[in-house]
Amino acid sequence: MTYADVIIDISHEKVDRDFQYRIPDELEQEIKPGVVVTVPFGKGNTLRKGYVIGVTEKAKYDTSRIKMIQSVSTDDETTESRLIALAAWMKETYGSTMIQALKTVLPVKDKIRAKEKRLIFFCGERQAAEELLEELSGSRFRARERFLRAILEAGRLEYTYASKELGAGASVLDFFEKKGMIRLENQEMYRIPNQADLVKEDCELCLNAEQNVAVKQIFREWKEPEARPVLLFGVTGSGKTQVYMRLIQQVIQEGKQAIVLIPEIALTYQTVRRFYAMFGDKVSVLNSRLSQGERYDQFKRAKRGEVQVMVGPRSALFTPFSNLGLIVIDEEHESTYKSENTPRYHARETAIQRARMEHANVVMGSATPSLSAYSRAESGEYLLVKLNARYKERPLPQVSIVDLREELKKGNRSVLSTELKASLSETLRKKEQAMLFLNRRGYAGFVSCRACGHVMKCPHCDVSLSEHNGRRLICHYCGYETVKPQVCPSCGSPHIGGFKAGTQQIEKVLEKDFPEARVLRMDFDTTRTKDSYEKILAAFSRHEADILVGTQMIVKGHDFPDVTLVGVIAADLSLNMDDYHCGERTFQLLTQAVGRAGRGVKPGHAVIQTYQPEHYSIRAAATQDYAEFYKEEMGYRLLMDYPPAAHMMTIFGACQDEELLKKAMYYIEAFICRVSPKEELHMIGPAAASVGKVKDVYRQVLHLKNVDMAFLTAVREKLEQYIEINSGFRKIYIQFDMS
Ligand code: ADP
Ligand code: ZN
Ligand code: ZN
Repeated sequence: MTYADVIIDISHEKVDRDFQYRIPDELEQEIKPGVVVTVPFGKGNTLRKGYVIGVTEKAKYDTSRIKMIQSVSTDDETTESRLIALAAWMKETYGSTMIQALKTVLPVKDKIRAKEKRLIFFCGERQAAEELLEELSGSRFRARERFLRAILEAGRLEYTYASKELGAGASVLDFFEKKGMIRLENQEMYRIPNQADLVKEDCELCLNAEQNVAVKQIFREWKEPEARPVLLFGVTGSGKTQVYMRLIQQVIQEGKQAIVLIPEIALTYQTVRRFYAMFGDKVSVLNSRLSQGERYDQFKRAKRGEVQVMVGPRSALFTPFSNLGLIVIDEEHESTYKSENTPRYHARETAIQRARMEHANVVMGSATPSLSAYSRAESGEYLLVKLNARYKERPLPQVSIVDLREELKKGNRSVLSTELKASLSETLRKKEQAMLFLNRRGYAGFVSCRACGHVMKCPHCDVSLSEHNGRRLICHYCGYETVKPQVCPSCGSPHIGGFKAGTQQIEKVLEKDFPEARVLRMDFDTTRTKDSYEKILAAFSRHEADILVGTQMIVKGHDFPDVTLVGVIAADLSLNMDDYHCGERTFQLLTQAVGRAGRGVKPGHAVIQTYQPEHYSIRAAATQDYAEFYKEEMGYRLLMDYPPAAHMMTIFGACQDEELLKKAMYYIEAFICRVSPKEELHMIGPAAASVGKVKDVYRQVLHLKNVDMAFLTAVREKLEQYIEINSGFRKIYIQFDMS
């Protein structure tokens, strides 16, 4: 006997609640998540429409009390039912409850009413009204007079304006309504975010020869019955955005809609502007600063067919278009495409799944594809399409690598090497612009030797150890711990420690070394307020400053034609993060940073400072050689069984009580050992997470690797049940990550 979990009403907070129904034998084949069914509901058994969110063999209640599904409506495949099916897939793939998945996918409506505006329209005879106005003027009916004058002038007024500003209360309106002069109406309003600075331009889309070939290849693939996802691999500035726009044009022409995912609005505002210039108000923009209500309204407009293109971050993927034709994922390799909330979905995989279910296509683009996407393109699972040249054949910048160990030998302890300093002088002399980039993420806890570049790494996991309290070094994968050495174990130098240089410090050095230069700084501190990103970037692009100093934020998506020099202060910072992606991230960041130079007519130059000039991520970024990087990085992943060479399930546990958390993680570890064959077990941890405690909540991680995702999924499902039935886990927050 099989049962279906059905939600009756998806438009309200009722998604929290599902009801179980028995599936009649003859319907067994047809019932799957997302299917619309008719079920008897409530005491009177009135027939209601419901959505199946899951199928199971286990009855939740006394089987005699479970009612039977009445019928399936096969032709009723709504946008919602497709999104529900997608949620079901996310639940299975990433591990979450169905409710968590539904809340991610469906536009939230809880407690948000569509906003309405009450309007008053003038609908009487003009002449009669003017006569009446004359009568009223100077009379004691001052509010009537004010109101009539205003509505005669405007034709319509907002109710709140009339009552608050004009003092026209119910009795006044009543008076005019009875005379048939006005009519009141509620109009639904969209909370449309400010798109004022977006303008439609009359532009024709012209493609160069290489871009045209790329588009043709993609169209050819789309004619296939099972079109593959496309990976558009094009160097920075090769015109990937042009290609996306051409594809979208086609999709719109066929009466379908497109979703364009971008990593982060604030940082890719130019891209948004280009889409708007091309497609005008066919485009809607979602951004992370929108309120829930605004977001909901944007989705509603999409559902009603009022917009054809939705541009936005990860969550725009769930735009309820009724006839989705294309999902574009720009800068596919960006880490913002991975959700940090349960379900921890990846936008790339989820987009491909949605496209598969709705017969749409996926095109993802990058100058530095993720290993995961590129390995799939190599195996033929994705179609690889290349753009090899920058638009107008502008050359890629000249790159030099500066070995910081040599600088120390020469006695230079400044954050600026001799070469970078000389290049800066030259750039300033020519009145061109420079960008200085510090690729430091949240913190840099790693410890290295300034004399020889040696980095303290975990002997078991090959990731950097992190410094704690200045005394101990810890691996955040396996929990390995050691005492921080006083001298470098490799060369004996006492110059061993954490790298400490922030953007502020660089700014100070510049003030001292180049007092005449105008410097702008962009980092977490200077971008806290709304619009601050855009302001800083706009000022820099108007050449109101000579040097822009910043973190990751400055390397994305912007075109500054006067920038001819890019300096990377310490390439190692991102290389020594305590996770296996750091080589990949470093290559991506450096390639993007270097790609910022020489985008205008003047050729560019980049200087990369590093303690590890021999590292393949740095060498390959300097020569812009993706193939070389891919070969080395894939070799490392294969050796260490890290994704995409294998799959990895990470179990996060969080709890205020550290002892309880450790115990729970230990039980989880023991459970996994119990349910898995020994030879399949590649477990690392449990260990403190890289941020081991946040707001007094302790966090631990446990990793399980396997070449077979199905194995990990099976373990996860058993574990989910184990955790659910054991009350000992009640106080522990558990999250899964599958990659
Ligand atoms: P990518 O997305 O690959 O970094 P873009 O699409 O942003 O590349 O193109 C880089 C620059 O070159 C942009 O300023 C864009 O307007 C310009 N460009 C690219 N292709 C064309 C084209 N076919 N016609 C006109 N301008 C183009
Ligand atoms: Zn050393
Ligand atoms: Zn380790």
